Amino acid sequence: MEARWQQAVLAALASWEEELVIVPVTDPARAQVLVRRQRPPLRELGGRPRASHGRASLQVLEVQRDGSWRLEPKVVVLISPGQRQLAIQATALHELGHAFGLWGHSDDPADALAAMPGSQPVVALTARDRATLRWLQAQPSRFGQPLPAPAPAQP
Ligand SMILES: [Zn+2]
Repeated sequence: MEARWQQAVLAALASWEEELVIVPVTDPARAQVLVRRQRPPLRELGGRPRASHGRASLQVLEVQRDGSWRLEPKVVVLISPGQRQLAIQATALHELGHAFGLWGHSDDPADALAAMPGSQPVVALTARDRATLRWLQAQPSRFGQPLPAPAPAQP
């Protein structure tokens, strides 16, 4: 059960590795993206609790690296184990897309980042998914840049 989940998540990760350099770390505290085998808690939507199989939540942290403070994203991704393997892989592919910065959705159900999943699980990135990621990566970002030194305290 756990091996099946892990296999599905690793397959989704491999798809993103075609576009991104992903460095695995052994210490969860050092991870910028943390994937957990866990069903996301129900969320109220329109007054009714709604279940989902995956969720990604973003925090922005100030971390000290090389002697200066920098902003870094930390994303926790929850992927439910309670699905068929291909569905787990499709969920992981979609949620990892959020984790890698694609917070918007596509209106094409064939895309990994589709707002509404189609009848078939999407387990590969489309040309549109890749183009969106490349566009995003070309945008300026303050992540990873040294933060300005805090102003001295006023008397
Ligand atoms: Zn989504």
